[in-house]
Amino acid sequence: MKDIRTLSLEQLTQYFISLGEKPFRAKQVYDWLWSKNLHSIEEMTNLSKELREKIAQEYTINPITVDELQKSTDGTIKNGVKLHDGLLVESVLIPTETRTTACVSSQVGCSLNCEFCATARLKRMRNLEVAEIVDQVALIDRQSKLYFDRPLSNIVFMGMGEPMMNYKNVVESIKKMTDPTGMGMSPRRITVSTSGIPKMIRMLADENLRVKLAFSLHSAIEKKRNEIMPFSGKFPLTEIMESLQYWYSNTGNPITFEYCVWKNINDTDEDIKALIRFCKQVPSKVNLIQYNPIGDGKYDQCNKEAEENYVRQLEKAGITVLIRRSRGGDIDAACGQLANKSSD
Ligand code: SF4
Repeated sequence: MKDIRTLSLEQLTQYFISLGEKPFRAKQVYDWLWSKNLHSIEEMTNLSKELREKIAQEYTINPITVDELQKSTDGTIKNGVKLHDGLLVESVLIPTETRTTACVSSQVGCSLNCEFCATARLKRMRNLEVAEIVDQVALIDRQSKLYFDRPLSNIVFMGMGEPMMNYKNVVESIKKMTDPTGMGMSPRRITVSTSGIPKMIRMLADENLRVKLAFSLHSAIEKKRNEIMPFSGKFPLTEIMESLQYWYSNTGNPITFEYCVWKNINDTDEDIKALIRFCKQVPSKVNLIQYNPIGDGKYDQCNKEAEENYVRQLEKAGITVLIRRSRGGDIDAACGQLANKSSD
């Protein structure tokens, strides 16, 4: 049976008209589905019992469920989330003193093949539906209220999958999250993180969504980056930079470069110089992300001196740099680890 959440407001309106109902019923149902995140047609109490039964004969709601929940001593909560067809993705709640961030997945597995990533080992099974993305946000909002007594404040598309490879549903889910009559999230608190597909970056810039963009760079030396992220061989860094400049000129939003520094991979002065040259071409800042190892030993977090060297040289060059400490180190924190385990 079809999930009623695949219908747009217009389609819902047509559906109710076809049932001989008033068009405003569509708005009532839409509100239950997208503003209240209700997962039961039966509980739509402002509809008659008869109408609810009629709808339930044709449509269903396929909510996500939490299959496994891991809590870290630092407050991070990692959810292994089960989809209606039994596939698993991960959704993580990351708390700080002042905010709660939801890290959501956009695909089951991933179409790309970054060497350092646990998700890359799961082949891409399918794209997530709009409702499956929104459900992750609603789930983490509920967990934030339950465990931290405050609503969710930020959303990052940094979970499993490359958001740009599920472009249509990611964009639609952002529209649902930011709809003032729905969840009402501020777009400025939503970050789409991409491994860099120039055409899609340009498309997203044209959407006028007012979200932020993060780009997983990891090396500004072309050859090295192509080894770390083999698919990126198709997209030269100059082409990616042009799309980032297009993003900035269209949205006015600076780019965040996500960057891990790995021992014996990208921890030299030459790497830093290349990064500085890259950053200077577009308004941007750098997030140095501490790496959660995935167990094969090839990629290891660099030592403290190498990290400090990065910070010193970037700051000297006038580039804003933040260190993002690893969270959830005592649980399967690296994206894809939990789902990998379940598929063993
Ligand atoms: S890092 Fe992101 S884009 Fe690369 S394989 Fe992992 S999930 Fe996919």
